[in-house]
Amino acid sequence: MRYVIIGNSAAGNAAARAIRTSDPGGEVTLIGDEARPAYYRPLIPFLIDRERPEADLFRDELHLPQGVALHLGRRATRIDPSDKTVLLDDGQQILYDQLLLATGSSAVRPPIVGVEDPGVFVLRQWDDALAIRQRRPGGNEDRRGPAETGGVGHAGGELPADSLPDVG
Ligand SMILES: Cc1cc2nc3c(=O)[nH]c(=O)nc-3n(C[C@H](O)[C@H](O)[C@H](O)COP(=O)(O)OP(=O)(O)OC[C@H]3O[C@@H](n4cnc5c(N)ncnc54)[C@H](O)[C@@H]3O)c2cc1C
Repeated sequence: MRYVIIGNSAAGNAAARAIRTSDPGGEVTLIGDEARPAYYRPLIPFLIDRERPEADLFRDELHLPQGVALHLGRRATRIDPSDKTVLLDDGQQILYDQLLLATGSSAVRPPIVGVEDPGVFVLRQWDDALAIRQRRPGGNEDRRGPAETGGVGHAGGELPADSLPDVG
């Protein structure tokens, strides 16, 4: 049986491990558009000011078992259920018998004037945290004034208290 999972985060990773246990002979392929192996997303705010080492985000429970074919930094762009294929953004085609979409969610930019401006960030992925860090003094861009956190869910509420004032 060929299992293909799109989305390499908590859900996709857990599914890969569960399939490995229930069908040790099955072929498991995991496709993730982020460049890194699965990481513990709730800790990304601590990347902004390096409060936690990057290694802390790669937790043991996210280690994949042997034999899972991993396509990192690749986005699934098309699914064709008639011939059971997934097309990746580099042109590769992957055959499946069973397909799981574990594509999670993405940050919503609310319809507010200015929300697409360069100094306005979302915080959902590792690279978002790095982009915010870049805006801090010592990063690659100029300071532009005080920062606001919009939305106090998991992401907004967990920002280290002193990590934003200099971002812009
Ligand atoms: C800062 C922060 C703090 C949080 N804190 C908590 C907490 O304390 N407790 C809690 O329960 N939850 C918390 N969460 C939420 C938690 O991280 C999510 O619920 C969890 O990550 C969901 O996992 P998932 O695998 O379903 O989806 P996601 O983590 O969203 O992962 C989906 C993956 O699929 C990838 N993907 C999407 N489309 C494609 C495609 N076409 N091809 C390839 N890959 C694709 C995405 O890039 C992503 O890597 C927090 C989230 C953030 C951002």
